[in-house]
Amino acid sequence: MKAAILRSFNQPLSIEELPVPQPLPDEVVIRVHACGVCHSDLHLADADWDLLKRHTKLPLILGHEVTGVVDTVGEAVAELRRGDRVGVPWLHWTCGECEYCREGREVLCNKQSITGVTVDGGYAEFVKAKASHCVHVPDGLSSAEAAPLLCAGVTAYRGLKQAGLASGQRVTVYGVGGLGHLAIQIAKAKGAIVSAVDIREDKLELARECGADWAGTEKPERAHVAIVTSASAKAYEAALKGLRKGGTLAVVGMPAEPFAVSAVSVVAGEYRLLGSAVGTRQDLREILALAATGAVRCRHHVRRLDDVNAIFDEMRRGDVAARAVVEFPGRVDTLSARRQDP
Ligand SMILES: [Zn+2]
Ligand SMILES: [Zn+2]
Repeated sequence: MKAAILRSFNQPLSIEELPVPQPLPDEVVIRVHACGVCHSDLHLADADWDLLKRHTKLPLILGHEVTGVVDTVGEAVAELRRGDRVGVPWLHWTCGECEYCREGREVLCNKQSITGVTVDGGYAEFVKAKASHCVHVPDGLSSAEAAPLLCAGVTAYRGLKQAGLASGQRVTVYGVGGLGHLAIQIAKAKGAIVSAVDIREDKLELARECGADWAGTEKPERAHVAIVTSASAKAYEAALKGLRKGGTLAVVGMPAEPFAVSAVSVVAGEYRLLGSAVGTRQDLREILALAATGAVRCRHHVRRLDDVNAIFDEMRRGDVAARAVVEFPGRVDTLSARRQDP
């Protein structure tokens, strides 16, 4: 099979032929239709995050927004069959037994393995996955549309869900990229009044297309919830100032440097700071179901695996509008062919 491999940090990925993986008893091997190119992949390849660098296996096939069809089924697998269309998310496996798993917070599992970080991911024609942690892709979504929901979509979804965003509340989304444009649509679907803040006019235009009630560079009306999706410490400082008293700041985007928080203002305003890390399998099922209704659509453009280093360069320059999705020729499902974004 063809795969893009990270052999060492800060080097281009190399496109190579590898043997197709074989499933362990609790695994499936999936023929990949599509894999989203997430900013985390770039951060991993560039070794930007110390915390994840320590856990990154090398050589590695990146990619954790994977959709495709089950090709081979391990002997102990009961929940999936050959031909099922599924997604493989960031959370590759969790133990199901630790205190976090038992509390329903499997994203915090200490024993977790991560697709495209600790095990090989989806920048390849085939990927191995734990049957227990794959999710079904609803019929209403093409594989290319669904792929970015496996990370960007579920991350935005869980952030707003954990913040307790309710119908009629005001939310401000900071950063209108892959995550941000999805957060706007999810918040609108929940009945919220949505403001979007970005420094680029083209991103503000995208925010309006996604249904934002207000889009600008600064000072929206004070919000019940602010969600920061950009890797910018400045955005966090603006977001804290843009909350109404008692408001919640959802921490999702990850700048390498810390941001400043005034304890005095957090106390005086009874603000809540809320970290949110990708999503559970339940969160995934919910965002996929919401997207299948048509309420949330990830803007994406389809590329080929051979372009992956070019896509990374475009992302480093900030030139990728919304999401790039690598699709595999000859495996394009009809829905995707009909509903490709320009
Ligand atoms: Zn991601
Ligand atoms: Zn666990």
